[in-house]
Amino acid sequence: MEDTVAPRIFGFSDVAKSGLLGEEADALLEAALLRINGGPFSASAAYLHGRGLVGSLGAEFTGQTVARLFRNPAIAGLKREPDGSLVDAGHPRILTPEQFAQLEERDAEDAKKKSSDSGGEATDAYEYVYGSSDLVVCGLCGAYFHGLRTNSGHPGYCCSAAPRADRPGTCGRVRISAQLLEDHLGEQLVARLSLPATQRDLEDAREDARTLAAELRKELDDLNAGVDSLAGMVLRHEITASSAKSAKTDAKRQQKELARRIRVLERAAATPVTGSVPELVAWWNSASVEAKAGLAQLMLYRVDVFPGGQGVRTLKPGRVKLWWRNQPPPPPAGEPQE
Ligand SMILES: [Zn+2]
Repeated sequence: MEDTVAPRIFGFSDVAKSGLLGEEADALLEAALLRINGGPFSASAAYLHGRGLVGSLGAEFTGQTVARLFRNPAIAGLKREPDGSLVDAGHPRILTPEQFAQLEERDAEDAKKKSSDSGGEATDAYEYVYGSSDLVVCGLCGAYFHGLRTNSGHPGYCCSAAPRADRPGTCGRVRISAQLLEDHLGEQLVARLSLPATQRDLEDAREDARTLAAELRKELDDLNAGVDSLAGMVLRHEITASSAKSAKTDAKRQQKELARRIRVLERAAATPVTGSVPELVAWWNSASVEAKAGLAQLMLYRVDVFPGGQGVRTLKPGRVKLWWRNQPPPPPAGEPQE
């Protein structure tokens, strides 16, 4: 494409930026709008990748390379003066200067958010996105994760098989910062949303969730009917009062569990799955924790979390394993991995 070895900027036809490459420029604008609407850089990278585009040096886009591209004022026909101000560069532009300013605003917001996160202020009512689903489980034992504050008050997720007052525990050895896990899953999910095949997968998953919810509701009805018949069995001396009592306690626990699973599935089935990529990304950014959990449930079989260092602020590879629904289902959770 180029005679020269100097890298041209993606979207421009040549190093001198004398013209635009229609498809690249169009895709770059769409990717920038994703970012302006609140998406992470990785979503924009996934979008460009999904359109079959690579960087001007032939490398696949990453969050990092997209971030660099979005911070280059040339994409908006601008150049930066030594004093930091932006002036017209006299060549074609892909974004308007206003859009470029919005990109800069998003960077500033992110920086502000990061610094307040590390400020370590414990909030009173943390909304755990994955606190009441079976989605996130302990990689060691397979127990689901629940939201739990650390001793210092930071929101986290923890293996639910820890010892408690009412029962001995078997594990409870894995925990993770809530923000770290939620940010990671959010980025991965939004990046997936940007892929063309995702929408059809979501429709299928939604149908599955509906079917399973209906089956569980039937199971719950049967269970309720069984509980209702216990009293009669005691009256007819078919069972003792104490065994009826323990059967009832058992059934109560199962009812609670079934009702919870039905709630999770119905929530998933109610998740919107249509809309353009920017619409879905915008939706994600303003969605309630329930809706986010519902969408995650539609896209993932399960998320396994393995032990990591204390107070670590980044995820080391392999710590969080995502099992996507458009891939083969995972083995039972908590199986030995090595
Ligand atoms: Zn565990």
